Amino acid sequence: MDNTSYIEISRSALENNLDYIRAKKKAKTKLSLVVKGNAYGHGIDTYGPLAASLGVNHFSVFDAHEAYQLKRSLSSPAEIMIMGMITDDQIPWAIEEGVGFFVFEEHRLKQTIAVAKALGQKARIHLELETGMNRTGFVKNQWSHLYKLIQDNSEHLILEGLCTHFAGAESVANHLRISKQLKAFKEGRKTFKPLEPHYIHAACSAAFLRFPKSQYDLVRVGILQYGFWPSVETYIATEGMHENATDPLQRLISWKSRIMNVKEVAKGEYIGYGTSYLATQTTKVAAVPVGYSHGFSRSLSNAGRALVRGTRVGVIGVVNMNVMMLDVSHIPSVEVGDEVVLIGEQGNQSISVSSFSEYSDQMNYELLTRLPQDIPRYITD
Ligand SMILES: *Cc1c(COP(=O)(O)O)cnc(C)c1O
Repeated sequence: MDNTSYIEISRSALENNLDYIRAKKKAKTKLSLVVKGNAYGHGIDTYGPLAASLGVNHFSVFDAHEAYQLKRSLSSPAEIMIMGMITDDQIPWAIEEGVGFFVFEEHRLKQTIAVAKALGQKARIHLELETGMNRTGFVKNQWSHLYKLIQDNSEHLILEGLCTHFAGAESVANHLRISKQLKAFKEGRKTFKPLEPHYIHAACSAAFLRFPKSQYDLVRVGILQYGFWPSVETYIATEGMHENATDPLQRLISWKSRIMNVKEVAKGEYIGYGTSYLATQTTKVAAVPVGYSHGFSRSLSNAGRALVRGTRVGVIGVVNMNVMMLDVSHIPSVEVGDEVVLIGEQGNQSISVSSFSEYSDQMNYELLTRLPQDIPRYITD
């Protein structure tokens, strides 16, 4: 059964972005694509195989369920790394499947050792160090104890990674904090060096670009691959200093639906629930079967934009659970079934995800990942 809207993912745009990332990457650094949050809304089981077909063979996810989804969708072998949540009862699966995971507290480490021992198979762990983000990661006074625990259990563990995460590398205002983290991480690298971690890693998209020395052996690139900058600051600092700079990244995602009803409303009538929109002239209203339950934020009420027949139109009234309304008064030929572009291009107009963020208070990351999992995703050229 068709859904009320659908998402298209552009293969050529991903190719373009991967070229850009690979050119910025040190030759020996491994690229891991971060596909948490349903591949930032792009649809993990459509997106994973697409990226794999373009030569990507390392992926980072947040939890074991995502690792499972990704693994199931891929037809070629790839390394998968869980950066966040894995429960005790998911650990055996991860070990058996060779899926790596972050370890940032002692219970998980001990549990991992016990399971690996029982299975007679080594676990691939990434030891996360606390360097100043103060979220997860082992603090310095635990390091020597950990060192010994890992050393004593080397027949059950592969120290696949030694890692940390920066607390906001996309903002110049955080520069001092990031520098301190780099310094703390250096000490950690020295401490654990004799255990020969396979990948030293720390960089997200922003650090990858702005702190190239943090690329180490592997980079965890998220938002950049989808054609978005972590922040405007990062874009300007990386590309935008010169006149006529054009964005080298391309967005992969388009989100489309179709008009389900068109009607004319007389001057003086309110449109939709309540009194938030008053027709100040005869208004042609198009109803679109997409609402906040589909990820089109209520904060876009009377503010969002869409494209119909190559023309930019505005959302009028409040966004409902399953329906929004557009003012199509200026498009005489408009009819039921016409394509509506919510994100992407039509004719020579375009609606970007960032324009959404300007009209609502959502940021790119949030808007993308809120696109429901059940909207079908299709790959286009
Ligand atoms: C999300 C995440 C990344 C990727 O961040 P981007 O800003 O999207 O590149 C990297 N590392 C960790 C631990 C993350 O949680």
